[in-house]
Amino acid sequence: MISKVELVKIIESNCQDLRRNGDTKTTTFTSVYKSLMPSQQHKLEELCGTHFQKFLEDGSIISLALAYSEAEILAIDQGKKKWEIYAEAYNKLNNELKILSEKVAIATQGIPILPTIDGIVGKISHVQEYFPMTISHRLIGEFAGMGWRGKNNLIIHPKFSCAFRFVSVLTPLNFPSDPLLDQTCEDCTACFNICSFLKKQSKLNDYRENCRKYIRHLDLSADVCGKCIKACYFTSKFNESFQLTTR
Ligand code: SF4
Ligand code: SF4
Repeated sequence: MISKVELVKIIESNCQDLRRNGDTKTTTFTSVYKSLMPSQQHKLEELCGTHFQKFLEDGSIISLALAYSEAEILAIDQGKKKWEIYAEAYNKLNNELKILSEKVAIATQGIPILPTIDGIVGKISHVQEYFPMTISHRLIGEFAGMGWRGKNNLIIHPKFSCAFRFVSVLTPLNFPSDPLLDQTCEDCTACFNICSFLKKQSKLNDYRENCRKYIRHLDLSADVCGKCIKACYFTSKFNESFQLTTR
């Protein structure tokens, strides 16, 4: 059985190879399971199969993060050609996370939960159809203390802002949990200033549906926009604490 220290070393070594910043945190299986909507609980049960009870009693969930580079974030909202740099980075990160999660699953006798479903934006007629299809890596990351829940509904990492992507691994191993990150966005409004859907979310039926339609309209090679991520990293109240690689 590998220790948490050894797990962190595996992630660090993979991040060095990928020349990316990354992070890993762990939380209990039970805390996440109890917080999921019933359809997602059912998905988790299916993933665990006959081992579900063992996971529920002792198991952990590992949250893995890989960050974008500063150049990849800078490309957002700079015309379609440059914006594609960000879209391609999104696809690349998902692929890197998939490979990393499979390695970590082998090392921890676990089961990877794959990154976000690709190409879904145009295949659904409303954003609410999406949520039962997947298990929320954001929720897992939040429970594992990877960051705080931002006003843009993304997880804000103390070093990467929300300029990173997640994947998760279920493991029967009982790793010590990381503490929740006790922080908020305070009075920052940088993401509201860049996105009218976020700003008017209390008046909209579901701003995420407006977001989905906008992403579809952008028609990039990934289901992304990223303007609220760029605003958070470069212009938020916390921007001086954030540090991505500059390559
Ligand atoms: S991804 Fe774009 S449209 Fe969606 S909330 Fe962020 S800035 Fe707004
Ligand atoms: S831009 Fe500011 S308000 Fe928006 S998520 Fe980032 S820190 Fe929070």
